[in-house]
Amino acid sequence: MPDYNKIRLICFDLDDTLWPCMPVIMKAEQTLYQWLCVHQPEITGHYTQQQLRQKRLALAQQRADIKHDLTALRKASLRQLAAEFCDDDSWVEQAFEVFYQARQQVEFYADVEPVLNSLKQNYLLASMTNGNADISATSLGHLFDYVLTAESSGAAKPDLAIFNRLIDSSALAADQILFVGDHPLDDIEGSKAAGMHSIWLNRQSIGWPEQTLQPDHSLQTLFEILPLLGAERI
Ligand SMILES: [Mg+2]
Repeated sequence: MPDYNKIRLICFDLDDTLWPCMPVIMKAEQTLYQWLCVHQPEITGHYTQQQLRQKRLALAQQRADIKHDLTALRKASLRQLAAEFCDDDSWVEQAFEVFYQARQQVEFYADVEPVLNSLKQNYLLASMTNGNADISATSLGHLFDYVLTAESSGAAKPDLAIFNRLIDSSALAADQILFVGDHPLDDIEGSKAAGMHSIWLNRQSIGWPEQTLQPDHSLQTLFEILPLLGAERI
């Protein structure tokens, strides 16, 4: 049983930890597609929304240089379309902004707001994501003391560099930090390798895959974190 008395900071992954990821991404891609229908109809006349998604994923395979930066990848994908159809990429930034704003319209899981409000009373809170979600644009942004993204850190989980950045920023020891996330490799292996405590949030009740480093605990809801930390259940 790990000693959680030393914990001072709790860091959360975002996508599929605080909200379901795919619905908000698909909605944002749909919003972008509708914008393209109006402003770049040649593109949407040629490609369906799903085909644009496949093209972007194919580009991601070729662009190892920006694979940690989903904003750069999305813009590169839009520039690729501009080159293919109109030789004018002046619309790309605006198109990305349409996607980006829609991508922040997340719907938190029901346990997130009450548990984070409770934890905030006793702990520093941080977020760390490989995606281009902006927690500060959400209704719970004010609860977070540290906000880390792969884009701004120049490295994506499970790279130790992004975990060390949180350790450096907070001036805490690694074992004073508890990481909570849904991804066995990016969140759990990464944070354990950095020396942090870790909790696997397994909302779908799937089996633990073959990884070398195990989480301290596996939970199905965030409510279960409170008794583990010695806090009252809400
Ligand atoms: Mg996640």
